[in-house]
Amino acid sequence: MSFKNAKKQIENKKVKLDRFLKFSKPKDRKTGRNATPCRRCGKTEGIVNKYGLQYCRQCFREEAKKLGFKKYD
Ligand SMILES: [Zn+2]
Repeated sequence: MSFKNAKKQIENKKVKLDRFLKFSKPKDRKTGRNATPCRRCGKTEGIVNKYGLQYCRQCFREEAKKLGFKKYD
């Protein structure tokens, strides 16, 4: 379960939420995979960083045409 979903489940339980945020929050990273999430959906797997795109491969596939990429067979 992702951090976002876990947080959503206990949003109304204040004491639990405070403890959760204190101990289970992901670190703010400067390097590594989690430092560059997809700018569209926030995924951290399969990121295309070439040309400064910063899309995950799924979003890149959907957005590529709008961005001006052409597909040659
Ligand atoms: Zn994405």
